[in-house]
Amino acid sequence: MKKFPINFDQTDFDFNTTILKFRNDLMILPRAIEWKSDLSMSKKVKMLEIPWDNLQDEVKDRGSYLLVLKLERHKLIEIGRLGKFMFQKGYYIYVGSAMSNLRARIKRHKQKRKKMHWHIDYLTRVTDGFLSIPIRSSQRQECEIAQALSSILKSGPAGFGSSDCKCLTHLFWSEKSPLQMETFHNALQRFRIKHP
Ligand SMILES: [Zn+2]
Repeated sequence: MKKFPINFDQTDFDFNTTILKFRNDLMILPRAIEWKSDLSMSKKVKMLEIPWDNLQDEVKDRGSYLLVLKLERHKLIEIGRLGKFMFQKGYYIYVGSAMSNLRARIKRHKQKRKKMHWHIDYLTRVTDGFLSIPIRSSQRQECEIAQALSSILKSGPAGFGSSDCKCLTHLFWSEKSPLQMETFHNALQRFRIKHP
């Protein structure tokens, strides 16, 4: 029997969809390995159980997402009825959710030409970089994520993307790329990895 070592990532939608599809045709033996702080691998190897019930529930195209947008220079931007704001150059991080068709929603955000519908549409059409981070879940977590980001990033205009909730805003700003910030990764980790 051939053995294929693969990385099991609970957040990878395509991967999880595939193992669910072939779960009866393949023998899947998941193991956890440990990385030490110097990035060498420890000898500790642990057998894991795949949480099939949890996967069945969670592996659906829905949940929350973050958009990381880059603005190259200061710009006065009108955000629909919310008003005009001076946006500093830097990185803007937006939190939203789509409880169905998450992929299609993110694809829509990537398009520059579209009918202006959400506050974020006014920003995506003028920003220079685009990165999306989907956080698939059966729970709508966008406000909790916004809360977590508010403690590590500067807040954007009040009311941005938060007309229907109690959050101050769903848009955040950082001078440097949040992807280089450990605090950002730690904040997301809480939401990306679900322990059944
Ligand atoms: Zn909210």
